[in-house]
Amino acid sequence: MQTPQTSFIRAFKDNYIWTLSSGPQTVVVDPGDAKPVLNWLKQNKRKLAGILLTHKHNDHTGGVAGLLAKFSVPVYGGANERIDSVTQPVAGGDTITLDALGGLEISVLDVPGHTLGHVAYYVPSQKWLFCGDLLFGAGCGRIFEGTAAQMYDSLQKIAALPDDTLIFCGHEYTLPNLKFAAAVEPENPAIEARVKESLAKRQKYLPTLPSTLAEEKATNPFLRADQETVMERMVALGRTADKTPLGAFTAVRTWKDDFVG
Ligand code: ZN
Ligand code: FE
Repeated sequence: MQTPQTSFIRAFKDNYIWTLSSGPQTVVVDPGDAKPVLNWLKQNKRKLAGILLTHKHNDHTGGVAGLLAKFSVPVYGGANERIDSVTQPVAGGDTITLDALGGLEISVLDVPGHTLGHVAYYVPSQKWLFCGDLLFGAGCGRIFEGTAAQMYDSLQKIAALPDDTLIFCGHEYTLPNLKFAAAVEPENPAIEARVKESLAKRQKYLPTLPSTLAEEKATNPFLRADQETVMERMVALGRTADKTPLGAFTAVRTWKDDFVG
């Protein structure tokens, strides 16, 4: 089997459409727009072999019809998300085998919270996680449909993956998220270091992603709600009286919803 490779295609203001390729065959994740994908395929002399969807929002699915007009390929998506264009509904615990990518295996994780049917795709052989709007660099998705407890549980599933897992998120939000992370933990030196690193990348117009799970565990307030410092600070700021990981997580998520950096 050829070693699979990943790359990214920019879409809209800050979306990334991630690609998985083996030789000329490519599978794309969350094509919100068809045009940049078609251009990329042409430029890189690749053929589309499949589409993976993490959730139903238009900035992640809007390009599917345009791609299916040119390529007849399977479309994977969460069974509970009910996306019309999905031909292969999948659910947590399923394994997808991508024959076009040399039999590459992908594990499906149910990660409700941002939407109720949100799924994430984990490639165990490469330790790659494609997580849509569940987790961002130093942040997490807004809770549109689920509860804070559901989002917390979903993030715990990610936290249980190997520390060197590469995290491929749907949006470039790392720098603004780090501003908030620093407000939650003003004394965390890892956050400061990540700001410097991310600024350097953004100045060269490079993505700050993928990150590693270890990096997220060190800097992402939504993966640090179980830290004594974070729980204590949420109580000290009067944002919750519930000094538990879920209490702190809920307080951090609510704070972020109207945080102006
Ligand atoms: Zn979304
Ligand atoms: Fe999105």
